[in-house]
Amino acid sequence: MSSKYQGLELSYRLQLLPICKDELLRSWFIRNALFLNMKPSQLSTIIFQNTDIWKSDIDTQLSKKNIESLLSTVKIKKEDLDKTLISFNCDYFHPHLNDSKQIKWVLSIGVHQRGQKSSIQYCPVCISTDKTPYFRMYWRLGFLTVCNIHSVCFLDNCYKCGASIDLIRYEKNHNEHFQQFDYLKCSQCYSDLRDAPKIKPCYYELKTNREHFQLLTRGYGNIGNSNFNYSHIYFDGFKRIMSFILCSQNGFEMFKYIIRINNLDKKYITDRVMIRKHSEPEHLSLGMRKVSMIFSCYIMRDWPISFIKICKEFGITKRYMYSPHLSYPFWLNKVLDSELAPDKNIG
Ligand SMILES: [Zn+2]
Ligand SMILES: [Zn+2]
Repeated sequence: MSSKYQGLELSYRLQLLPICKDELLRSWFIRNALFLNMKPSQLSTIIFQNTDIWKSDIDTQLSKKNIESLLSTVKIKKEDLDKTLISFNCDYFHPHLNDSKQIKWVLSIGVHQRGQKSSIQYCPVCISTDKTPYFRMYWRLGFLTVCNIHSVCFLDNCYKCGASIDLIRYEKNHNEHFQQFDYLKCSQCYSDLRDAPKIKPCYYELKTNREHFQLLTRGYGNIGNSNFNYSHIYFDGFKRIMSFILCSQNGFEMFKYIIRINNLDKKYITDRVMIRKHSEPEHLSLGMRKVSMIFSCYIMRDWPISFIKICKEFGITKRYMYSPHLSYPFWLNKVLDSELAPDKNIG
C-alpha cells in the first residue's frame, strides 16, 4: 500500500457517476476517475485502500473484504454491484465456481497474463451511440464475437495501429489533464475507437452468436437442431470442440479446411501455427475464436451428421479428440463413443 493513502479515511461515501446496465466494474471506475481528472488506479486505491487491486481482475471476482471496502467508500447498492461482477453472473456458462478460481470463458485483459493475445472486445456501434459510452460485461466472454444489439463484429484491437485495448494503464505527462473520454482512445496512437470500421459478420458467425447469447441470458436454448435445457452443457462441449479445432495438432487439417471453404483470411493459418497445444480457447485472439464460431454453426445445424462426416473425411477418431483428463458432456461423448470409435472409421 502506498503511504500516500495509508490512514486515509473518508468521512462520507463517494458519490460517483451511476453504473450503467451490464457495465464492467473496471469501466465504471475508469469513467469516474477520468471525470474526476484522476488516474483510474488512484481511484481504485482510494476505494480499496490497496494499490494492487487495480492490477487484479476486478471485473471477475472481488474478495469479501474488497466488496466491503467498496460498499463502505462508494455509494452503490449491493444489488448493483452483484449485477456487475462476473462471478455472480456466470451460472449459465460456468456453474462450478467453487471448484476453481478461474472462471471459464472469461477473456483475459492483460492483467497478470503477459504474452497472451486476448484483450477485451468491444462493439464500435455501441460505444459511438451510447449516451455514456461504456464497456459491457458480455464483451469479456469468449463465446461471443458479434454484438447482440447491432449485429456487427466485435473488435479487440485498435483499427489503426493494432494495439490491444488497454483498460489498465492510463498515463499523462505532468501538465496534461485527463479528458473525460480518454478511455475511448487507443493507448498507443490515440485513435478514437468509435471511428473503427463496422464489420458485418458472415451468416454462420451471426447465427452462432445469436444462439450463444440466448443461452447466456436464458440459461437454456437451441443450438442448430439441438435443444439444451442447461446452457453450460452445450458450452462445455463447445469448448472441447473449439480446443480441438484451434489448439490441437490433430485438428490443424480440419482448421485449414474451414478457412478454405469459408473464404476466411489465410493469415489465420499462420496465426494458428503459433498457438500452444494446451492453450485455453478463450485466451485466443478474436480472429481465431471466429473460426470456431463458424465451425460450430456448420456442425450443430444437423448435429451430429455433418460432424461425423467431416471427422471421417479427415480420419479423426475419438482418440484424436479425447483426453482422459478432461470431462465431456454426454451429447459430445455419445458421438465420440458410438460414431467415432476407431473401428467405426473404416470405410
Ligand atoms: Zn453494439
Ligand atoms: Zn492505435
